Amino acid sequence: MFRRLSSFLLVLLAGAGIGWLASGLAGALAGVIAGAMVWFFTDLARGSRVILWLRDPQAREAPTLWGLWGEAADRSRRLLRARDQQLIESEARLQAFLAAIQASPNGVAILDRQGYIEWFNQTAAKDFGLDPQRDLGQQIGNLVRDPVFAGYYAGRDYGHEVLLAGRGSTPQRPVQLSVQLHPYGDGRLLLLSRDVTALAQAEAMRRDFVANVSHEIRTPLTVLSGFIETLQSLELDPTERERYLGLMAAQAERMQTLVQDLLTLSRLEGSPPPGFSEWIEAEELCSLCVDEGQALSALLWPEPAAPQQLRLHAVPAISLAGSSSELRSALSNLVSNAVRYTPAGGQIDITAEILSDGRVEFAVTDTGPGIAPEHLPRLSERFYRVDRSRSRESGGTGLGLAIAKHVAQRHDGELIMTSVLGQGSRFALVLPANRFRPAVAVGQGGAMRAP
Ligand code: ADP
Repeated sequence: MFRRLSSFLLVLLAGAGIGWLASGLAGALAGVIAGAMVWFFTDLARGSRVILWLRDPQAREAPTLWGLWGEAADRSRRLLRARDQQLIESEARLQAFLAAIQASPNGVAILDRQGYIEWFNQTAAKDFGLDPQRDLGQQIGNLVRDPVFAGYYAGRDYGHEVLLAGRGSTPQRPVQLSVQLHPYGDGRLLLLSRDVTALAQAEAMRRDFVANVSHEIRTPLTVLSGFIETLQSLELDPTERERYLGLMAAQAERMQTLVQDLLTLSRLEGSPPPGFSEWIEAEELCSLCVDEGQALSALLWPEPAAPQQLRLHAVPAISLAGSSSELRSALSNLVSNAVRYTPAGGQIDITAEILSDGRVEFAVTDTGPGIAPEHLPRLSERFYRVDRSRSRESGGTGLGLAIAKHVAQRHDGELIMTSVLGQGSRFALVLPANRFRPAVAVGQGGAMRAP
């Protein structure tokens, strides 16, 4: 301020001096006025340069000036630079924040007070079929036409979520979305969507499972209680009584087998996969299952029915790493199925072979009725049966292949099912190369493949 005042006085003084020298006192007075005007216009010009630059600081360079205007320009430049820096930082923060919401597995859309879309992430675009170019600024009600959503949106009661059919949902491949609107700020809305197809499927599976188990248990229970009532109310002769008790025992056994299979399944689901510390010889595994199969065959197809031919082919001298009880349960389920579904006189071949890709395959091939191709993908579902009555008659629980598939997967292997209707079926349990080693190594510390 002092410099500004002194420069002003200096210019006046200079004007007065020049005026005095030119024409005395009157000249000095005119010189002061002229000096004041020069100073005023120069100052105006300097101020205008600063104002001009401040009107559009991006387009022009800041003027380099001395004095008060110079300082004003300098301070303004620094303030603008700080503000630009802040803007860059906020923009970066906003972008990072939006990128985080973009990466969210849930759909997020921001709606203004009138329900116009301000922003949405890719998941929301996928869930609601929105186009990032076309649909920004559009009314959500015009774009999401599902009647359930329309009712929910119009109802303005957003305290709960609603379930909608997702885009591309078909009866074969249903897609379910959980959608909720969350009011925030000054009447804006946050639209959140979540794909709950897997959850809904798991819930449906749980319900089906409980219904199936109840149904499976209810049937023998009804039969049993009917027999008990008969025994209590009727005077039966010993032969009749014996027959009834036999039938009751069969129903009780059926329930026992079912409970056993259910327990096996729940053990398979609830325990960690088998490691590499337990070994069982392939030969022993196959022989045990074939012996069981032969006993079952004799029971189901007693003479004079033509006996089934159960043949165990040469088994490679290898040991398998895993749970021997699980492997036995899986293979014996395959053998028992072959025995139960192949008619009397049929042939069942049990083979074990090291495949060219290094894996080992245990296969059970029968000459039974075969399975139509449309059933094959669903056979290992719990309680899925092609012929319900045939399964029940022969003591099936509908869980055998589900158990076998589980066991295969827990041993990093797979269950391969092939069949030709009217000709027979082949069920193969295939285990990876690291699940077996030469049998001689059992208990002798032989070389073991790394898991
Ligand atoms: P189940 O106890 O009913 O045999 P599984 O899970 O073992 O249950 O088998 C599922 C269904 O697959 C059976 O009900 C049967 O219809 C069919 N199936 C399984 N093995 C054979 C086979 N070897 N031949 C023909 N059908 C079979």
